Amino acid sequence: MKKTLRSQLSVGFILIVFVTIGLVSLCANILINKQFAVYMENKQRDFSKTLAEGIEHQYNEGESTWNVDYIHGVGMYALNDGYIIKVYDTNNRVIWDAQNHDTTLCHTIMTNISISMQERRPELDGGFETYEYNLEKEGVELGRLEVSYYSPYYLSDSEFKFLDSLNLILIIIGTSSIICSIISALVLASKISSPIRKTIQMAKEISNGNYGMRFEGKTNIKELSDLTYTVNQMASTLEVQENLRKRLTTDVAHELRTPLANVASHLEAMIEDVWEPTKERIQGCYDEIIRISSLVNDLQRLTQIESDNLKLEKQYMDLYKLSQEVVRDFGKEIFDKKIDCVVEGEASIIFADKNRIYQVISNLLSNAIKYSNEETKIYLSVVDKDSYGILTVKDCGIGMLEHELPYIFERFYRTDKSRSRKTGGAGIGLSIVKSIVQAHNGSIDVKSQVGEGSEFIIALPK
Ligand code: ADP
Repeated sequence: MKKTLRSQLSVGFILIVFVTIGLVSLCANILINKQFAVYMENKQRDFSKTLAEGIEHQYNEGESTWNVDYIHGVGMYALNDGYIIKVYDTNNRVIWDAQNHDTTLCHTIMTNISISMQERRPELDGGFETYEYNLEKEGVELGRLEVSYYSPYYLSDSEFKFLDSLNLILIIIGTSSIICSIISALVLASKISSPIRKTIQMAKEISNGNYGMRFEGKTNIKELSDLTYTVNQMASTLEVQENLRKRLTTDVAHELRTPLANVASHLEAMIEDVWEPTKERIQGCYDEIIRISSLVNDLQRLTQIESDNLKLEKQYMDLYKLSQEVVRDFGKEIFDKKIDCVVEGEASIIFADKNRIYQVISNLLSNAIKYSNEETKIYLSVVDKDSYGILTVKDCGIGMLEHELPYIFERFYRTDKSRSRKTGGAGIGLSIVKSIVQAHNGSIDVKSQVGEGSEFIIALPK
């Protein structure tokens, strides 16, 4: 069974936290105990030295005697702290001996200390050891002091308490850090995994065809925000493609239904002898079929241009020269309508797909001719700008209403005026023009007035 990202992250984080806090606590504990042991050893040694110095001052040189009362006081005080002292003079005679003085008390104190240390610090394997200090005053030897205490060190009850509370503090800090870390690990894991989970959910919905889904939540993790943004982009691209596909299907069905029904009903009438199959009627059906097939061709071209894999075969070409070529190729239509078509302006070299730009100019010119009345004028003019070549196709034809202009580049859109004309096409020509211009990163603009004519301006980058 596969583990979730959230549980993996949580386990990982918690493991790291445990190991880190465990190691820190262990090191702190070892270090503190070690330092404390060193401190206690030094303290015991220093105390013994201080005892020796105190006793040295209790010798009266003039009378060659010792202040035994004071030594007794010091000895009893030291005994209560676990130090058993014995003072000798230079002749090795005992001046004062704690054990001689109070054997029972000495024994009790030594036993208590040993038991307490064996119980609480058995690893020390300690015991009472005797250390010797020479007693002297201004370079004159006075005797010696023997101090016995528990080695390597001895801890009193209050010192044990101090160490215990120190350890307790460490445990409290460690435990609360672990709890805090676990909580933040869980929150972090959920913060990371939650957008991923939602994105997966979204991707599933998208794969089921629900392209309207968008990731609404926010994340401040850059990679995750990039991921959700990309999935959102993918969803909207797919949505656009899907809408295009749906629209194309309905548009095509709609556009083909009427002419096909016409042809079918005309042919049926002729088959069933309702109509005489005259040459004009057959010609009518033929014209309709030709119109349908040219519509299908246009559609194919448009789909190819609109699909992202439109490959432009760019080359340096003169927009002015190409306009002249297109006008020449439309010679018959221009002549038939007795239109005066002029190409004016200057040479403008652009880097573009010549065949596609030919298509653009010929669609614009074909419209200009279609929607012009006889014996009018059409102007094609080329202006060479710094980074653009600009072509204007202007006619003095029927023109368009202001409110229709935003729609004329839509597929199958035809103005009411053009619908009433026999010459009207299927409403695809301008969609093709716009797609080609956009594929070249160019722009297209239109100005028109009913009854006065229309002007299409395209700018193509060099
Ligand atoms: P169509 O094949 O019908 O001409 P287009 O996509 O080329 O399709 O044009 C869409 C519509 O825009 C046309 O049906 C027409 O109503 C309008 N139109 C395009 N060019 C002109 C023009 N030069 N003068 C007037 N109307 C035009």
